[in-house]
Amino acid sequence: MRTRVAAVACTLVAGAAAAFAAAPASAADEPAGFVVEFGRFEKANRHAAGIVRRSGAMQAVADEVNARWSLPFTMPVLFSDQIADGPVFLTGLDITGDDGAKITSLINFPGPFLNIQLENVRKQLKGVKGVTVRRGVVSAVQFVLAHEIGHAIIHEFRLPVLGKEEDAADGFAAYLLTANPKFGPLTAISAAAVWDSLAPMSRRLDESDFSDEHSFPRQRMYQFLCWVYGSDTKRFRAIVGRDGLPRQRAARCGREWREINAAWDTVLAPHVRTPAAS
Ligand SMILES: [Zn+2]
Repeated sequence: MRTRVAAVACTLVAGAAAAFAAAPASAADEPAGFVVEFGRFEKANRHAAGIVRRSGAMQAVADEVNARWSLPFTMPVLFSDQIADGPVFLTGLDITGDDGAKITSLINFPGPFLNIQLENVRKQLKGVKGVTVRRGVVSAVQFVLAHEIGHAIIHEFRLPVLGKEEDAADGFAAYLLTANPKFGPLTAISAAAVWDSLAPMSRRLDESDFSDEHSFPRQRMYQFLCWVYGSDTKRFRAIVGRDGLPRQRAARCGREWREINAAWDTVLAPHVRTPAAS
């Protein structure tokens, strides 16, 4: 989800600003890029939040982005119940931290979202061997974090967006994680599983479904599977078939995967961190 709520009440994020005031400054005061922080959670959300926090997997996503591109900012990625909205990239903020540093943008993940992810992954992985619930939920949240980072990067680098930004942010997540040995296709597959369970199959669609800025959950699910299949059509041929990705769509996925990689490589090329700058 993305919003340009310029007037997000500063009181809402004041706590977050204080939490980030102590974020370690990097050498020579170079911007730190994305900085993950876990705050306080209500009791009901602590189990899910604990799984995500202890994994260290969110900072791994941030570290990957920080290492690959030269980011001219320090942006908090807050996991806590302090702000109810999210997952969301918030921009247009005007918060001053305890150290006087300005925070104008942040990414927020509230506890109830982590809980919903855990419940959906649990439901979807029932009877599935080889993937633990913990691994599934961490992988799915990594994908969503990469999606929010995609919004942030589009905004901060003022990248051209041809088509729906929500689809572009999904594409960034797939581009960053799917074929990356540090993360892998389970990120996109777990996200697809969660979106599958979010799909409004048991109710009538209403106008809000059609007017939403996101593609339908099931469209996103098939898109994620298409990218995974397209990233290695031999390895993932089992995705195609009656219960998976329809053959008609699968035929396009290799090209779709190459297109999205070429597009992100092109728009991010001017921002790639050179060895001398690292
Ligand atoms: Zn979004």
